[in-house]
Amino acid sequence: MEDMDVTKVCSCCKIPKELNDFYRSKSGKFGIKAICKICERDKVRLYYQNNADKLKKYSREYSKNNRNIINNRLRKKYQTDVGYRTEFSLTQKLYYEDNKVKKIKKQKRYYKKNREKRINYHKEYYKKNKEKVLKSVREYRRNRL
Ligand SMILES: [Zn+2]
Repeated sequence: MEDMDVTKVCSCCKIPKELNDFYRSKSGKFGIKAICKICERDKVRLYYQNNADKLKKYSREYSKNNRNIINNRLRKKYQTDVGYRTEFSLTQKLYYEDNKVKKIKKQKRYYKKNREKRINYHKEYYKKNKEKVLKSVREYRRNRL
């Protein structure tokens, strides 16, 4: 018979504990696990520490697989749901517009940053290749006439 004073010695830390301090288990004695909650938690934590790489890989795989499922679901929705399709193209368009603005801004920044550099480069090039440049200009003019 079980009563409130029943204790069980944890097979891990060897400390007698109340049944409430153990997780339930169908296979265990008294319907609880052999090790106490605290040891169980430690064990889980240790397991996570020892298997961090494996678990990280697993969760990566999981999200990758799930992404495929989600993508498939969305594709189906896209094919069958006109409202979703409209909304989707609108989102795409907005994303594209937004990106376009960002891209132009980035290009402008890049241009500004490299303007001096480019001018200097051309100047240097001209100085070093003056004859060549002048010759090609003369040839160009001659060909045009
Ligand atoms: Zn314990």
